[in-house]
Amino acid sequence: MIIDAHTHRYADEVIADPVKFALSQKETHWLKLVTPTQGKGLQGWSDRKEMLSQMKTDGVDRAILQGWYWENPQSCVWQNDWHAKWIREDPQNFIGFVSIHPSITDPLDELKRRQDQGFSGMGECHPWVQGSTLRDAAWMQCMHFADNAGWPVTFHVTEPVGHDYPGRVSTPFDDFLWLAQEIPTLKIILAHAGGLFPFYELNPKVRPDLQNVFYDLAACPLLYDPQVYRQLIDVVGYEKIIWGTDYPLRIMPKTQEKPDFASFKNLLHNEAKLTSKEASAIFGGNILSILP
Ligand SMILES: [Zn+2]
Repeated sequence: MIIDAHTHRYADEVIADPVKFALSQKETHWLKLVTPTQGKGLQGWSDRKEMLSQMKTDGVDRAILQGWYWENPQSCVWQNDWHAKWIREDPQNFIGFVSIHPSITDPLDELKRRQDQGFSGMGECHPWVQGSTLRDAAWMQCMHFADNAGWPVTFHVTEPVGHDYPGRVSTPFDDFLWLAQEIPTLKIILAHAGGLFPFYELNPKVRPDLQNVFYDLAACPLLYDPQVYRQLIDVVGYEKIIWGTDYPLRIMPKTQEKPDFASFKNLLHNEAKLTSKEASAIFGGNILSILP
């Protein structure tokens, strides 16, 4: 079973006019990310037909539809409505994660409703962009809900030191460690190789608190030298590494005309020289083992 644990999909009306959607919903952060100031942007757009056909071509059985850290709580509810429809339409292909906003009205009602609709996790989360923090009481209620539901929670992570990009907002490493200590059973997925947070697992004082922390590789070809993959596996073990692309982002723009899954899958396989055991865990087994 090959699973891409980090993809994004938008409604047809958003794909048709992302700027209009962003302006009407006051989604300025998202707008900065998806509209390039110059040249051909990295953001691809992919509707149901295109995404399913690319998955088939590239041998991807399932994709986790990550939500977004919308600034407007209403956009989160809409995204959840889209996901509810899409996982009902193609239950064999799509796994839905919930978008949440700390100031959404009745967050627990929203989460319960989505659980009943068959959602399997929460993410992609970035409470700082939403004017909040991980330690906010309403946010923590949602984390406890996820923990009780057995849902993994995916966080967008930026590295504390690194290149600037449009809309960069930092995500303090301390807070992730705090969350892992606060709710040790919560399954936390830190996206984008956790902004290299995994290397802190080399600290024997920190490592025991990170047993339920996993790292996805979404967008990594845009961010890091390919040697990072084997190093990550050597430091934290292949059981904690989860493949995801950030589709439909063109994460290998030099060679990708359009977004796909196979380019990164092959790159990771070859660069890290994965054994068959590692490959089956990283490309599906690990995420399957932590889904409810
Ligand atoms: Zn992200």
